[in-house]
Amino acid sequence: MITETFSGRVGLVTGAASGIGAGTAKRFTAAGATVALIDIDAVAGEAVAADIEAAGGNAGFFHCDVTDAAQVESTINRIVETFGRLDFAFNNAGITGPMCRTADVTIETWKQVIDLDLSAVFYCMKYEIPHMLASGGGAIVNTSSDAGLHSLPTIAPYIAAKHAVVGLTKATAQEYAASGIRVNCICPGVTDTPMMELWYASHPESRASATKSIPIGRGGSVDEVANAVMWLCSDAASYAIGMIMALDGGLTLGPYLSF
Ligand code: NAD
Repeated sequence: MITETFSGRVGLVTGAASGIGAGTAKRFTAAGATVALIDIDAVAGEAVAADIEAAGGNAGFFHCDVTDAAQVESTINRIVETFGRLDFAFNNAGITGPMCRTADVTIETWKQVIDLDLSAVFYCMKYEIPHMLASGGGAIVNTSSDAGLHSLPTIAPYIAAKHAVVGLTKATAQEYAASGIRVNCICPGVTDTPMMELWYASHPESRASATKSIPIGRGGSVDEVANAVMWLCSDAASYAIGMIMALDGGLTLGPYLSF
């Protein structure tokens, strides 16, 4: 459990209406941060903001489609106008996309997955970094996936986008380290969220086989991912630059075969 206080700090979380984003935003606000919740789902996003406020935390919901660069720019500017600064950002919204082999992927699916899982991360960093430079620094965490470290069949656009987030994180981290901005990346494995529930619902057999392929023998919790994001955004991670952090119970260490 991260005990460092985020009191007085302002952050943003994309994909904050559900799953990893919602859980991490709640943890940051419980630790004293003010968090701007960004999502395309206004109903669920407002509900997360209300939960945080009911628990005594500070949050505001900002409706934004992060695949639209102009909306990202104006939303981030509005967040800084509202809360006065931007100390950390968790660029996390993502989708897996429908499952099929590469030749059957529609052009529409390709664009949808690349737009959200890759381009939106770039748009967010493009408009977050100037605010952080203006205030002397900050911390950015991008969400890749175990799918950014190894391959899984039938989700090629997702694999491509998540691998690219790893490269984008490294390149940006190198460029801004000397300016006080630390850019890092998390690669969650099988994590218990609505995204995974959707996957299991359409492929019931995958629940048991997913768990069998994880050395630790279980999926991860949102809290376990939030711990890592909070550490990367905290001063305790002052030397973490361009880190690609696998949080996957050992899933990507190699083939997990029992002999
Ligand atoms: P989730 O489906 O629970 O939440 C995703 C959120 O993103 C939703 O609130 C959704 O409304 C929002 N969103 C979708 N499109 C958007 C858009 N255009 N603009 C703004 N918001 C948008 O998903 P999750 O499981 O919490 O996943 C979060 C991140 O973690 C994703 O990037 C995902 O690829 C990654 N990830 C998840 C797992 C897992 O097992 N759950 C594993 C590896 C990586």
